[in-house]
Amino acid sequence: MKVSALEQEMRLLASLDPLTGLLNRRAFFNDAKVLVNYAIREQISVSIVALDLDKFKSINDTYGHSAGDLALTNFTKVLKSCCRQSDVIGRLGGEEFAILLPNTSADEAYQFTQRLHLALGHSSIKVENTLIKYTVSIGLLSLVPTQMDTIESLLHKVDGSLYLAKNSGRNRTVVYGR
Ligand code: GH3
Ligand code: MG
Ligand code: MG
Repeated sequence: MKVSALEQEMRLLASLDPLTGLLNRRAFFNDAKVLVNYAIREQISVSIVALDLDKFKSINDTYGHSAGDLALTNFTKVLKSCCRQSDVIGRLGGEEFAILLPNTSADEAYQFTQRLHLALGHSSIKVENTLIKYTVSIGLLSLVPTQMDTIESLLHKVDGSLYLAKNSGRNRTVVYGR
């Protein structure tokens, strides 16, 4: 392999989460920042989604850590089946994910989260002949960003909505400011 190809390969590996193959936290923030800046310049809407699997600790505690890992990879598959190629998906840590939907209105983004809840409802993982189901809570924020907005500040806001989704019963999407 040429040095440049090797370097490229190493850079790619350094940006991916080994378990799910999604962007890791650092790479997600890098890519999302570029797209937020683009949306500011062009004055087009973006949607930011914060996701956290529900009662995930109990999957680990009941069925073991490898069942938890299987849920994480299964979730990734379902997520990708509901996303567009251009969406930026990151695993921010543990069972927490974030997605940036470029050029996506509030309605379209809400439809996406409902599609995801539905798809997860039809999905399950199999551990030693037991089918396990799990759900996700979601915070959603759609806006035409201004110079005041950064991916960090937007994620902070949408985390508040995710928190409300958890506290109002889980397995749901809460839209920021609604
Ligand atoms: P909530 O509905 O409030 O989000 O509850 P929760 O149990 O999902 O949240 P909590 O933060 O209490 O637990 C998260 C768990 O995720 C704890 C940790 O052991 C587990 N976890 C984090 N990363 C991994 C991983 O890579 N693999 C597995 N199997 N478990 C993980
Ligand atoms: Mg969590
Ligand atoms: Mg959780």
